[in-house]
Amino acid sequence: QAKSLGRGRFVFFDDSMREQLIASMTLEQELRQAIKNQQFELHYQKISHLTSTQAIGFEVLLRWQHPSKGLLTPSEFLFMAEETGMILDIETWVIEEVCLQLKLWKQSQEYENVYIAVNLSGRHLIQANQLAKLIELINVNTIEPERLILEFNESAFAQHTELALKGLRKLKSFGVKLALDDYGAGLSSFNFLHNYPFEFIKLDRSFTRTLNHNEKNLTLVKALHELGTQFGYRLVAEGIESAAMLKKLQNAGCEFGQGYHISRPAKMTKDPSSAKVVNINSA
Ligand code: C2E
Ligand code: MG
Ligand code: MG
Ligand code: MG
Repeated sequence: QAKSLGRGRFVFFDDSMREQLIASMTLEQELRQAIKNQQFELHYQKISHLTSTQAIGFEVLLRWQHPSKGLLTPSEFLFMAEETGMILDIETWVIEEVCLQLKLWKQSQEYENVYIAVNLSGRHLIQANQLAKLIELINVNTIEPERLILEFNESAFAQHTELALKGLRKLKSFGVKLALDDYGAGLSSFNFLHNYPFEFIKLDRSFTRTLNHNEKNLTLVKALHELGTQFGYRLVAEGIESAAMLKKLQNAGCEFGQGYHISRPAKMTKDPSSAKVVNINSA
Protein backbone atom coordinates (compact mmCIF):
# COMPACT_ATOMS: atom_id res chain seq x y z
CA GLN A 1 0.00 0.00 0.00
CA ALA A 2 2.78 2.34 0.94
CA LYS A 3 4.15 1.91 -2.59
CA SER A 4 0.96 3.02 -4.28
CA LEU A 5 1.19 6.34 -2.55
CA GLY A 6 4.03 7.19 -4.87
CA ARG A 7 7.07 9.36 -4.61
CA GLY A 8 7.26 12.36 -2.39
CA ARG A 9 4.20 11.44 -0.39
CA PHE A 10 4.05 10.89 3.31
CA VAL A 11 4.22 7.24 4.29
CA PHE A 12 3.62 6.44 7.90
CA PHE A 13 2.83 3.47 10.02
CA ASP A 14 -0.40 3.44 11.91
CA ASP A 15 -0.57 1.65 15.24
CA SER A 16 -1.68 -1.68 13.86
CA MET A 17 1.09 -1.77 11.25
CA ARG A 18 3.55 -0.88 13.94
CA GLU A 19 2.27 -3.68 16.15
CA GLN A 20 2.46 -6.15 13.29
CA LEU A 21 6.02 -5.20 12.52
CA ILE A 22 7.05 -5.57 16.14
CA ALA A 23 5.27 -8.93 16.44
CA SER A 24 7.01 -10.20 13.35
CA MET A 25 10.44 -9.00 14.48
CA THR A 26 9.86 -10.54 17.88
CA LEU A 27 8.86 -13.86 16.35
CA GLU A 28 11.97 -13.86 14.20
CA GLN A 29 14.22 -13.19 17.17
CA GLU A 30 12.49 -15.76 19.34
CA LEU A 31 12.80 -18.33 16.60
CA ARG A 32 16.56 -17.76 16.43
CA GLN A 33 16.70 -18.27 20.18
CA ALA A 34 14.58 -21.40 19.84
CA ILE A 35 17.11 -22.96 17.50
CA LYS A 36 20.02 -22.02 19.76
CA ASN A 37 18.30 -23.20 22.93
CA GLN A 38 16.71 -26.30 21.40
CA GLN A 39 13.11 -25.45 22.20
CA PHE A 40 11.70 -27.71 19.52
CA GLU A 41 10.21 -31.11 20.03
CA LEU A 42 8.77 -33.76 17.77
CA HIS A 43 5.39 -35.40 17.98
CA TYR A 44 4.80 -38.65 16.17
CA GLN A 45 1.53 -39.70 14.57
CA LYS A 46 0.93 -43.28 13.61
CA ILE A 47 0.30 -44.14 9.95
CA SER A 48 -1.70 -47.34 9.63
CA HIS A 49 -2.58 -49.96 7.11
CA LEU A 50 -6.34 -49.41 6.97
CA THR A 51 -7.52 -53.00 6.77
CA SER A 52 -5.07 -54.72 9.10
CA THR A 53 -4.92 -51.55 11.26
CA GLN A 54 -1.24 -52.26 11.83
CA ALA A 55 1.16 -49.34 11.90
CA ILE A 56 3.49 -48.95 8.96
CA GLY A 57 5.18 -45.88 10.32
CA PHE A 58 4.95 -42.52 11.97
CA GLU A 59 4.81 -38.96 10.70
CA VAL A 60 6.95 -36.52 12.59
CA LEU A 61 5.33 -33.17 13.41
CA LEU A 62 7.27 -30.18 14.63
CA ARG A 63 6.34 -28.41 17.88
CA TRP A 64 7.86 -25.39 19.58
CA GLN A 65 7.92 -25.24 23.34
CA HIS A 66 7.79 -21.47 23.51
CA PRO A 67 9.14 -20.03 26.80
CA SER A 68 6.01 -17.97 27.51
CA LYS A 69 3.33 -19.06 25.05
CA GLY A 70 3.53 -22.80 25.65
CA LEU A 71 3.46 -25.47 22.98
CA LEU A 72 3.05 -24.01 19.48
CA THR A 73 2.07 -25.85 16.30
CA PRO A 74 3.60 -25.12 12.88
CA SER A 75 0.78 -22.81 11.78
CA GLU A 76 2.05 -20.31 14.36
CA PHE A 77 5.68 -20.11 13.28
CA LEU A 78 6.45 -22.13 10.17
CA PHE A 79 5.87 -19.23 7.78
CA MET A 80 8.56 -17.21 9.55
CA ALA A 81 10.97 -20.15 9.53
CA GLU A 82 10.33 -20.53 5.79
CA GLU A 83 10.64 -16.84 5.01
CA THR A 84 13.93 -16.42 6.81
CA GLY A 85 15.41 -19.74 5.72
CA MET A 86 15.73 -20.84 9.36
CA ILE A 87 13.64 -23.84 8.37
CA LEU A 88 16.79 -25.43 6.96
CA ASP A 89 18.51 -25.40 10.37
CA ILE A 90 15.39 -26.66 12.07
CA GLU A 91 14.96 -29.51 9.63
CA THR A 92 18.59 -30.50 9.99
CA TRP A 93 17.82 -31.07 13.65
CA VAL A 94 14.59 -32.92 12.78
CA ILE A 95 16.44 -35.34 10.54
CA GLU A 96 19.15 -35.97 13.12
CA GLU A 97 16.46 -36.73 15.69
CA VAL A 98 14.48 -39.13 13.53
CA CYS A 99 17.61 -40.97 12.44
CA LEU A 100 18.42 -41.43 16.12
CA GLN A 101 14.91 -42.77 16.68
CA LEU A 102 15.36 -45.21 13.80
CA LYS A 103 18.61 -46.38 15.37
CA LEU A 104 16.91 -46.95 18.72
CA TRP A 105 14.19 -49.00 17.08
CA LYS A 106 16.76 -50.97 15.18
CA GLN A 107 18.61 -51.75 18.41
CA SER A 108 15.47 -52.82 20.22
CA GLN A 109 14.65 -54.98 17.17
CA GLU A 110 10.96 -54.32 17.68
CA TYR A 111 10.38 -51.69 15.07
CA GLU A 112 12.86 -52.61 12.41
CA ASN A 113 10.42 -52.11 9.59
CA VAL A 114 8.92 -48.85 10.65
CA TYR A 115 8.97 -45.82 8.43
CA ILE A 116 9.42 -42.30 9.65
CA ALA A 117 7.88 -39.59 7.51
CA VAL A 118 9.38 -36.11 7.69
CA ASN A 119 7.84 -32.94 6.27
CA LEU A 120 10.41 -30.90 4.39
CA SER A 121 10.50 -27.43 2.97
CA GLY A 122 10.81 -27.17 -0.80
CA ARG A 123 13.94 -25.10 -0.20
CA HIS A 124 15.91 -28.32 0.08
CA LEU A 125 15.15 -29.02 -3.56
CA ILE A 126 15.78 -25.67 -5.15
CA GLN A 127 18.34 -23.82 -3.10
CA ALA A 128 21.91 -24.20 -4.34
CA ASN A 129 23.93 -26.90 -2.54
CA GLN A 130 21.03 -27.68 -0.25
CA LEU A 131 20.18 -31.02 -1.79
CA ALA A 132 23.75 -32.27 -1.54
CA LYS A 133 23.77 -31.20 2.11
CA LEU A 134 20.50 -33.01 2.77
CA ILE A 135 21.76 -36.24 1.21
CA GLU A 136 25.02 -35.97 3.14
CA LEU A 137 23.09 -35.34 6.36
CA ILE A 138 20.99 -38.45 5.90
CA ASN A 139 24.02 -40.41 4.82
CA VAL A 140 25.99 -39.74 7.99
CA ASN A 141 23.00 -40.22 10.28
CA THR A 142 21.40 -43.41 9.09
CA ILE A 143 22.37 -46.58 7.38
CA GLU A 144 18.82 -47.12 6.17
CA PRO A 145 17.64 -44.20 4.04
CA GLU A 146 14.82 -46.41 2.76
CA ARG A 147 13.19 -46.08 6.19
CA LEU A 148 12.75 -42.35 5.64
CA ILE A 149 9.78 -40.91 3.83
CA LEU A 150 10.34 -37.30 2.82
CA GLU A 151 7.09 -35.36 2.37
CA PHE A 152 6.81 -32.33 0.15
CA ASN A 153 3.66 -30.50 -0.78
CA GLU A 154 2.93 -28.99 -4.15
CA SER A 155 4.13 -25.56 -3.08
CA ALA A 156 7.63 -27.03 -3.38
CA PHE A 157 7.06 -27.28 -7.14
CA ALA A 158 5.29 -24.01 -7.75
CA GLN A 159 8.45 -22.20 -8.81
CA HIS A 160 11.53 -23.83 -10.32
CA THR A 161 9.45 -26.88 -11.19
CA GLU A 162 12.15 -28.60 -13.24
CA LEU A 163 14.84 -28.05 -10.65
CA ALA A 164 12.62 -29.38 -7.89
CA LEU A 165 11.72 -32.44 -9.94
CA LYS A 166 15.38 -33.09 -10.62
CA GLY A 167 15.98 -32.89 -6.89
CA LEU A 168 13.25 -35.44 -6.23
CA ARG A 169 14.79 -37.86 -8.69
CA LYS A 170 18.18 -37.50 -6.99
CA LEU A 171 16.62 -38.21 -3.62
CA LYS A 172 14.85 -41.25 -4.97
CA SER A 173 17.99 -42.71 -6.48
CA PHE A 174 19.73 -42.06 -3.16
CA GLY A 175 17.18 -44.42 -1.63
CA VAL A 176 14.70 -42.46 0.46
CA LYS A 177 10.96 -42.74 -0.10
CA LEU A 178 9.00 -39.73 -1.29
CA ALA A 179 5.49 -38.54 -0.53
CA LEU A 180 3.36 -35.79 -1.99
CA ASP A 181 1.63 -34.14 0.95
CA ASP A 182 -1.73 -32.37 1.03
CA TYR A 183 -2.97 -33.67 -2.31
CA GLY A 184 -6.44 -32.39 -3.10
CA ALA A 185 -5.99 -29.17 -1.15
CA GLY A 186 -4.51 -26.98 -3.87
CA LEU A 187 -4.37 -27.18 -7.63
CA SER A 188 -3.25 -30.81 -7.47
CA SER A 189 -2.29 -31.52 -11.05
CA PHE A 190 -2.57 -35.08 -12.39
CA ASN A 191 1.05 -34.60 -13.37
CA PHE A 192 2.08 -35.34 -9.78
CA LEU A 193 0.55 -38.80 -10.01
CA HIS A 194 2.58 -40.16 -12.90
CA ASN A 195 5.45 -37.85 -13.80
CA TYR A 196 6.83 -37.42 -10.31
CA PRO A 197 8.64 -40.19 -8.43
CA PHE A 198 6.33 -40.31 -5.40
CA GLU A 199 5.82 -43.61 -3.57
CA PHE A 200 2.99 -42.11 -1.56
CA ILE A 201 0.23 -39.64 -2.33
CA LYS A 202 -1.30 -38.18 0.81
CA LEU A 203 -4.88 -36.98 0.57
CA ASP A 204 -5.31 -33.71 2.37
CA ARG A 205 -7.65 -33.74 5.32
CA SER A 206 -9.77 -30.97 3.80
CA PHE A 207 -10.50 -33.46 1.02
CA THR A 208 -10.96 -36.43 3.35
CA ARG A 209 -13.52 -34.40 5.28
CA THR A 210 -15.75 -34.02 2.21
CA LEU A 211 -16.18 -37.80 2.01
CA ASN A 212 -18.75 -37.57 4.78
CA HIS A 213 -21.26 -36.06 2.39
CA ASN A 214 -19.76 -36.10 -1.09
CA GLU A 215 -20.18 -39.41 -2.96
CA LYS A 216 -18.41 -38.11 -6.04
CA ASN A 217 -15.27 -37.46 -4.07
CA LEU A 218 -15.46 -41.01 -2.75
CA THR A 219 -15.49 -42.16 -6.37
CA LEU A 220 -12.41 -40.02 -6.88
CA VAL A 221 -10.64 -41.81 -4.05
CA LYS A 222 -11.42 -45.16 -5.67
CA ALA A 223 -10.06 -43.92 -8.97
CA LEU A 224 -6.94 -42.46 -7.32
CA HIS A 225 -6.29 -45.78 -5.64
CA GLU A 226 -6.66 -47.66 -8.92
CA LEU A 227 -4.40 -45.21 -10.72
CA GLY A 228 -1.87 -45.84 -7.99
CA THR A 229 -1.67 -49.52 -8.85
CA GLN A 230 -0.84 -48.48 -12.45
CA PHE A 231 1.48 -45.62 -11.71
CA GLY A 232 3.23 -47.10 -8.71
CA TYR A 233 2.18 -44.87 -5.86
CA ARG A 234 0.21 -45.77 -2.75
CA LEU A 235 -2.57 -43.74 -1.23
CA VAL A 236 -2.53 -42.37 2.33
CA ALA A 237 -5.56 -40.54 3.72
CA GLU A 238 -5.02 -37.81 6.29
CA GLY A 239 -7.46 -36.58 8.91
CA ILE A 240 -9.42 -39.77 9.62
CA GLU A 241 -11.54 -38.57 12.51
CA SER A 242 -14.25 -41.23 12.86
CA ALA A 243 -14.99 -44.91 12.46
CA ALA A 244 -17.44 -44.04 9.69
CA MET A 245 -14.74 -42.23 7.77
CA LEU A 246 -12.35 -45.12 8.22
CA LYS A 247 -14.97 -47.49 6.82
CA LYS A 248 -15.60 -45.31 3.77
CA LEU A 249 -11.92 -45.12 2.98
CA GLN A 250 -11.47 -48.87 3.42
CA ASN A 251 -14.34 -49.49 1.02
CA ALA A 252 -12.85 -47.09 -1.49
CA GLY A 253 -9.65 -49.15 -1.46
CA CYS A 254 -7.51 -46.54 0.26
CA GLU A 255 -4.61 -48.51 1.66
CA PHE A 256 -3.10 -46.35 4.40
CA GLY A 257 -4.20 -43.54 6.65
CA GLN A 258 -3.75 -41.46 9.74
CA GLY A 259 -5.95 -39.30 11.90
CA TYR A 260 -7.23 -38.61 15.38
CA HIS A 261 -9.54 -41.63 15.21
CA ILE A 262 -6.52 -43.89 14.75
CA SER A 263 -3.97 -42.07 16.84
CA ARG A 264 -3.16 -38.51 17.88
CA PRO A 265 0.30 -37.08 17.47
CA ALA A 266 2.29 -37.52 20.67
CA LYS A 267 5.80 -37.36 21.99
CA MET A 268 7.64 -40.59 21.48
CA THR A 269 8.43 -42.33 24.71
CA LYS A 270 11.26 -44.81 25.10
CA ASP A 271 8.76 -47.53 24.44
CA PRO A 272 7.00 -46.16 21.38
CA SER A 273 3.26 -46.78 21.06
CA SER A 274 2.47 -50.42 21.57
CA ALA A 275 1.54 -50.59 17.91
CA LYS A 276 2.85 -53.61 16.09
CA VAL A 277 4.74 -52.39 13.13
CA VAL A 278 4.56 -54.33 9.95
CA ASN A 279 6.64 -54.29 6.82
CA ILE A 280 4.82 -52.31 4.18
CA ASN A 281 5.41 -54.99 1.57
CA SER A 282 3.60 -57.62 3.59
CA ALA A 283 0.80 -55.32 4.79
P1 C2E B 1 0.74 -32.20 7.39
O1 C2E B 1 2.06 -32.67 6.94
O2 C2E B 1 -0.39 -32.37 6.44
O3 C2E B 1 0.46 -32.94 8.77
C1 C2E B 1 -0.81 -33.32 9.21
C2 C2E B 1 -1.43 -32.29 10.13
O4 C2E B 1 -2.77 -32.67 10.45
C3 C2E B 1 -0.74 -32.13 11.47
O5 C2E B 1 -0.91 -30.79 11.88
C4 C2E B 1 -1.54 -33.08 12.37
O6 C2E B 1 -1.42 -32.75 13.73
C5 C2E B 1 -2.92 -32.82 11.85
N1 C2E B 1 -3.83 -33.96 12.03
C6 C2E B 1 -3.56 -35.28 12.06
N2 C2E B 1 -4.68 -36.03 12.18
C7 C2E B 1 -5.71 -35.15 12.21
C8 C2E B 1 -7.14 -35.31 12.32
O7 C2E B 1 -7.69 -36.40 12.39
N3 C2E B 1 -7.87 -34.15 12.32
C9 C2E B 1 -7.30 -32.92 12.23
N4 C2E B 1 -8.10 -31.86 12.26
N5 C2E B 1 -5.96 -32.74 12.13
C10 C2E B 1 -5.18 -33.85 12.12
P2 C2E B 1 0.26 -29.95 12.53
O8 C2E B 1 1.09 -30.83 13.41
O9 C2E B 1 -0.31 -28.70 13.10
O10 C2E B 1 1.16 -29.58 11.29
C11 C2E B 1 0.68 -28.75 10.26
C12 C2E B 1 1.58 -28.79 9.06
O11 C2E B 1 2.86 -28.24 9.37
C13 C2E B 1 1.88 -30.19 8.58
O12 C2E B 1 0.82 -30.64 7.78
C14 C2E B 1 3.17 -30.00 7.82
O13 C2E B 1 2.94 -29.62 6.48
C15 C2E B 1 3.81 -28.84 8.54
N6 C2E B 1 4.95 -29.35 9.32
C16 C2E B 1 4.98 -30.03 10.47
N7 C2E B 1 6.24 -30.31 10.85
C17 C2E B 1 7.04 -29.81 9.89
C18 C2E B 1 8.47 -29.77 9.67
O14 C2E B 1 9.29 -30.31 10.45
N8 C2E B 1 8.90 -29.14 8.54
C19 C2E B 1 8.03 -28.57 7.66
N9 C2E B 1 8.55 -27.96 6.57
N10 C2E B 1 6.72 -28.59 7.82
C20 C2E B 1 6.22 -29.20 8.92
MG1 MG C 1 3.29 -31.39 5.10
MG1 MG D 1 2.82 -34.30 6.18
MG1 MG E 1 -0.85 -33.10 4.78
